[in-house]
Amino acid sequence: MVVGAGPVGLAASIDLALRGVAVVLIDDADRIGEGSRGICWSKRTLEICDRLGVGEKLVAQGVTWKLGKVFHGDDLVFAFDLLPEDGHKMPAFINLQQFQVEKALVDRADELDLVDLRWKNRLIAVEPHNDHVRLTIDTPDGPYSLEADWLIAADGARSSTRDLLGLKFSGVTFEDKFLIADIRMAADFPTERRFWFDPPFHAGQSALMHRQPDNIWRIDLQLGPDADATEEQKPHRVTARLKRMLGDRPFELEWISVYRFNCRRLDRFLHGRVIFIGDAAHQVSPFGARGANSGIQDAENLAWKLAAVLKGEAVPALLGTYETERIQAADENIAHSTRSTDFIAPHSAAERVLRNAVLALAPRAEFARRMINSGRLSMATVYDSALLTPDESPFGGSARLGAPLPDCRVRNVDGSETYVLENIGDGFTVLTFKNGAAAQPAPEGVCRLRIGDDLIDPEGLLARRLDATPGAAYLLRPDHHLCARWRTFDRGKIAAARDRALGKVQ
Ligand SMILES: Cc1cc2nc3c(=O)[nH]c(=O)nc-3n(C[C@H](O)[C@H](O)[C@H](O)COP(=O)(O)OP(=O)(O)OC[C@H]3O[C@@H](n4cnc5c(N)ncnc54)[C@H](O)[C@@H]3O)c2cc1C
Repeated sequence: MVVGAGPVGLAASIDLALRGVAVVLIDDADRIGEGSRGICWSKRTLEICDRLGVGEKLVAQGVTWKLGKVFHGDDLVFAFDLLPEDGHKMPAFINLQQFQVEKALVDRADELDLVDLRWKNRLIAVEPHNDHVRLTIDTPDGPYSLEADWLIAADGARSSTRDLLGLKFSGVTFEDKFLIADIRMAADFPTERRFWFDPPFHAGQSALMHRQPDNIWRIDLQLGPDADATEEQKPHRVTARLKRMLGDRPFELEWISVYRFNCRRLDRFLHGRVIFIGDAAHQVSPFGARGANSGIQDAENLAWKLAAVLKGEAVPALLGTYETERIQAADENIAHSTRSTDFIAPHSAAERVLRNAVLALAPRAEFARRMINSGRLSMATVYDSALLTPDESPFGGSARLGAPLPDCRVRNVDGSETYVLENIGDGFTVLTFKNGAAAQPAPEGVCRLRIGDDLIDPEGLLARRLDATPGAAYLLRPDHHLCARWRTFDRGKIAAARDRALGKVQ
């Protein structure tokens, strides 16, 4: 049972269904979310969405970008490229309104018989038991009860499940308020993330601009702690602020909101048979686009583990590693997001002096450029986890133990182009590099993908990314995170590493 059909609950339900688990997914609304929330979807999220069957659709709908520029006043002080490497199927980022992502996920869920999506179903009571959870759900036709083996709480930042269980977030709420405006405007600004500290059009504050599809632009303006949220949302006031930024260019207001941001999380994500994911488990400020992106990564971490437990392939203790791995990710996201928000909206006069000194030095000093923080953008977490088998010998390249396998353009044996991640399924996979020796079979329950036989790496790009030598073997978990690697193929070691990744070996 999943409560909450936001991006995270939808991703979890689809992933579970694709792994053969029947899911009831409820949402108290009568339709997908509305208004302006997430727009930036990271490469890792798109790779997950691709496995779930919607990645290409999202990329086709969205605006692809990878460059960011940071200005101080009118001066460019810092620029970055989030994906300088070539040969990945998914771009560094796309911008697409959250409701369009939710629509694609709802359409995908509707295609799957194992997802029973029920709108206008509101969770109103939760009774946890040792081996099930009893739920009461209110509907326009009256309430009903349901027993679930497991409850995934994906009911967002104001999670009813959290309240019903009496659980609390710990963390901080930032005082500064931010105006978020989506406007329709025909403009030829480049497709890149643009961030200003103290711009001439919004003195003393910060501003952020992102292109979205269909001539929609997202503009965030920092308003300070004392701003009156009701007053600041009045269209004439917003229009005046935007005209100072955009000059005489015509635009229409699509959506206006004023937010204050939080960085906080639950102490534990696992409460018996109730498991928290997404904003119900943790919240961050949007600088870095880490909210929905990390929530979808929670969903993928949980889905394969819960499916393995339900099928009897793993013991329930495996779910404890959902908590440790995703708390590691949440803490990383909260730390990045807090540092960005502190840099953008300093708490004290001393912090502001330091921030301004960094910005003033940045055009001349590399160390100062590195200290500028307008939001470090969402990256997949490299798990430091008991499920990994430590390396026996050193490996270089960009692949890291505990991280998702880096994608790479390769070829099918017929010469057609493909990407390595497209060829990896939903189970454990061992990726091996041909070395002339006869291929040994993989252990039972592990798929084998042979580079040199099943796929060709004509430019040696994949080999360089994985620092592969002939005969090297890489074991991938069902979420495509690299959990073990060796210079030579050893069936016994692969089976032991797979068992360890299923939580069978302590
Ligand atoms: C201005 C802004 C910009 C942002 N930008 C980004 C960005 O660029 N990238 C990014 O990754 N994130 C961004 N975020 C964060 C992102 O919007 C959230 O992290 C994301 O919505 C979390 O998804 P979720 O599925 O966990 O929760 P939600 O999207 O909140 O979904 C929860 C669902 O649960 C349902 N629900 C609640 N209570 C009940 C109940 N009792 N019974 C049944 N259903 C219930 C709700 O109706 C809702 O549909 C941004 C947020 C804001 C505010």
